[in-house]
Amino acid sequence: MTERTSEGDGVGSGEDGRLRVCVVGASGRMGAEVCRAVAAAGDLSLVAAVDRTGAGLSLGEAIGSAGLAAEEATLGVVGSLTGIGGVHVDVVVDFTVAEAARENLDWCATEGVHAVVGTTGLGPDDMVDLAARFGEGSSANCVIAPNFAVGAVLLMHFSKVASLHMDGAEVIELHHDKKRDAPSGTAVKTAMDMVAARQSAGLDSWPVRGADLDVVPGSRGALVGGYVPVHAVRLPGLVAHQEVIFGAPGQGLTLRHDAYDRKAFMPGVLLAIREVPRRRGLTVGLEALLRLGGIEATP
Ligand code: NAP
Repeated sequence: MTERTSEGDGVGSGEDGRLRVCVVGASGRMGAEVCRAVAAAGDLSLVAAVDRTGAGLSLGEAIGSAGLAAEEATLGVVGSLTGIGGVHVDVVVDFTVAEAARENLDWCATEGVHAVVGTTGLGPDDMVDLAARFGEGSSANCVIAPNFAVGAVLLMHFSKVASLHMDGAEVIELHHDKKRDAPSGTAVKTAMDMVAARQSAGLDSWPVRGADLDVVPGSRGALVGGYVPVHAVRLPGLVAHQEVIFGAPGQGLTLRHDAYDRKAFMPGVLLAIREVPRRRGLTVGLEALLRLGGIEATP
């Protein structure tokens, strides 16, 4: 039996104020990990599991019983959110693909169920749509984050700071070979955030360097935000990694984050589940939930 941890403050509708959670994509790599993380959290209850392939099985049959209590292992997996019937849910967690996530978010907004979304591949148009659906249009809130690893969010934050002081940067993202989108949402956001940070500080764009040396098309990467080259690596054995390499005359700075295991994402996912009931409307990015303000200097 897994030891249960508790950090919530009883905002859920379940027994003892626990938040009642449904995981969509429950037998996927991330979804299964989320099921186990929710099951291990003393302030959360795993009350429903949705998955196409696992539909008709018990959750224990779909993902294995390790880390699940008997009532979680025997939960019946259903094929879609409409199949959860009368089960009361406070928060839906979605780790699927963009087309499925759009449908699931529609259901959440209509039914007034909060949503935490890790699925990548949703674009700026989706964000506009979700801001409207989860703003005035629904009693439910939505937290969507392209990366739930706290270290990766810190990397993005530090990259914004460094972009104001260095003379150029390139992003290299490295992922397992099953990842369907490239470049990763995190790499795109890192580049876009650096561009936005420089713009709001009144700094010029960095020059595009070496495009004329592109002997083989694509060798200088994809330009994101107009001038930040992003390179995507896909290999078996990798999980999720990113480097941002900064240059300036006579010096370099490399920031790197490595997620070695999908457990790296779980503290961020659990934080989002706990926070989503009190974050009105749409919240984009885990950074909004972390305290990234100034740190008092040591005297
Ligand atoms: P995965 O193992 O392939 O799992 C995907 C899940 O989505 C499976 O349960 C799959 O069910 C389901 N699915 C796929 N297409 C569907 C459809 N059309 N309708 C309904 N369900 C569908 O992938 P993963 O590695 O867990 O990643 C899932 C998502 O999370 C991806 O978008 C990935 O980029 C993202 N991700 C985000 C973070 C983050 O921190 N935000 C971290 C890692 C991954 P079937 O087996 O039936 O196809």
